Amino acid sequence: MTAQAQSLTRPITFNAARFEPVPFKVYTQRDFDQIVPLAKLSEAQRFEMKVVSSVLPFRVNQYVIDELIDWDNIPADPMFQLTFPQRGMLAPEHFDRIATLLEHGADKKDVDAAVDAVRHELNPHPADQMEMNMPRDEHGNRLEGIQHKYRETVLFFPSQGQTCHSYCTFCFRWAQFVGDKELRIASSEAETLHAYLRHHCEVTDLLFTGGDPMVMKTRHLRDYLEPLLKPEFDHIQTIRIGTKALTFWPHRFLGADDADELIALLERLTEAGKHVALMTHFNHWKELDTEATQAAVRRLRKAGVVIRGQGPLIAHLNDDPDVWARMWKTQVRLGILPYYMFVERDTGARNYFEVPLVRAWEIYRDAMQQVSGLGRTARGPSMSASPGKVEIQGVTEVAGEKVFVLRFIQGRNPDWVQRPFFAKFDPQATWFDHLKPAFGDEKWFWEDEYEAIRDDKLSIES
Ligand SMILES: *Cc1c(COP(=O)(O)O)cnc(C)c1O
Ligand code: SF4
Repeated sequence: MTAQAQSLTRPITFNAARFEPVPFKVYTQRDFDQIVPLAKLSEAQRFEMKVVSSVLPFRVNQYVIDELIDWDNIPADPMFQLTFPQRGMLAPEHFDRIATLLEHGADKKDVDAAVDAVRHELNPHPADQMEMNMPRDEHGNRLEGIQHKYRETVLFFPSQGQTCHSYCTFCFRWAQFVGDKELRIASSEAETLHAYLRHHCEVTDLLFTGGDPMVMKTRHLRDYLEPLLKPEFDHIQTIRIGTKALTFWPHRFLGADDADELIALLERLTEAGKHVALMTHFNHWKELDTEATQAAVRRLRKAGVVIRGQGPLIAHLNDDPDVWARMWKTQVRLGILPYYMFVERDTGARNYFEVPLVRAWEIYRDAMQQVSGLGRTARGPSMSASPGKVEIQGVTEVAGEKVFVLRFIQGRNPDWVQRPFFAKFDPQATWFDHLKPAFGDEKWFWEDEYEAIRDDKLSIES
C-alpha cells in the first residue's frame, strides 16, 4: 500500500490511553539545547536558529516535536519549517547584523536595540488593524480587545488567549508575541464584550481569536461564552473560535487538564441552539494524520461542533497542489469543512514564505480539480487587505489585456462584495498593494468610498 492510501484509510481509533492527562511541555528560544533531536544539526545551524529567533518568535511543544516533525527529513520537513526558525527568514543584511553582535558577545542592550530596529523593518502592523477596526463606546473610548470590521462579525481577543501552544514561523501576528505592547489587542473584560454585543443586533457571528483562545482555561472561556445563552443575545447565532490547538495540542480536547469541562461547555452551547464553529488553522495533511488529532475531531463533532479548515499558502511548507488536495480530502473524510486558502500577509519573514499571486491561483485551481464537490468549499486564494478580503478568481484576457479577475469576499462596505473587478496582470505580484487597476483605470471602483471610510476612522483617532 502506498503511504497515501494508508493514511486515507487509517481507522479512527479511540485509544483509552490517549485520554489520560498528558503534561504540556513547551520550549522557547532559551531551550534550544534541550530539544534532543536538534542534536542532528551542526553547531552552525543551531546558531542560525538562535539568530533568527532573536528577532522572530519561537515556541514549540513536545507533541509537535514527537508526533508531527519527521526528524529524518529536516530541515525540509514541512512541520519543521512550520515551527523552527530558518536562516532564510531574515534578509542577509539583517541576519549578519544580529549574528555579528551575538558572536561577539555584545551587551544585551546593544542586541536588543539591533533586534528592535530589524523588527521595525518587517512591517509589524499590517493592514491598519489597530487604527481602523477598533470600535469606540459612546464616550469615544477605544474598546480594547474588540475588532469590528465587517458588519456581521465581531472579533474578540481575550487577554488570556494571546499566546499559542506553538508558534508558526510565518505568523502575521508575530509582533505581539515578541512583546510589542502596542500590538497586544486584548481584553479581559467579559462585560465590555457583552455590552458591545447587546447594542449591536446586526452582529450574528462572534469570533474568538488570539493568539489561540484554546490556551485559555475552560473557566475563563465559560465567563465569556455562557452568558451568550441569555435571550438578549439571541442575535448571536454563531460562536466561532479561531484555533490551531487541534493540531498543535489536540490533548486540549482529550485528556488535558479541563478538557472534559471544555467539551461539556461547547455541548451546552450547541444544544441550546448556537452554531459553534471551530475555525481551525491547518497547513498540511500531516497535521491531520495523528491519532490524537483524529480522536479530538471525533469528540468535538459528537459535541455538535462544526470544524472548518483554513490556512495560508506558504513557500517551503505547502506550495504544492497535491498537499492541498490531500489535506482537503482528509478534512472531508474526517467531517471538517474546507473554508479558506489565504495568501501569506505582507509582514515578518514574508520574503521567505511568499508565493506569487499567479502561482497561488494555479495551486488552488490544480488542488480543486483533484477533489470532489465536498472539498471545493474552500475559497481563495484570499488576501485580507485593509478594504476587505479579496479573492483571486483567475487570470484571463479581456479586450486584449491580460488581467487578474478579483472579487471581494468581505468588504468594509458590504455593497462591494461579489462584484468582479480587474487588475493588470503582474507575474511578480505577491500582495494586493502590488496590483494596479486594469484597462488604464486610475482607481479601483471602490477606492473613493474606501478613502472616505478611512479618513473618517482616522480622524476620530487624532
Ligand atoms: C475574515 C474576517 C472575518 C470573517 O469573515 P467571513 O467571510 O465571515 O469568514 C471577520 N472579521 C475580520 C476582521 C476578518 O478578517
Ligand atoms: S497558531 Fe495562529 S496565531 Fe498562533 S502562531 Fe500560528 S498563525 Fe499565529
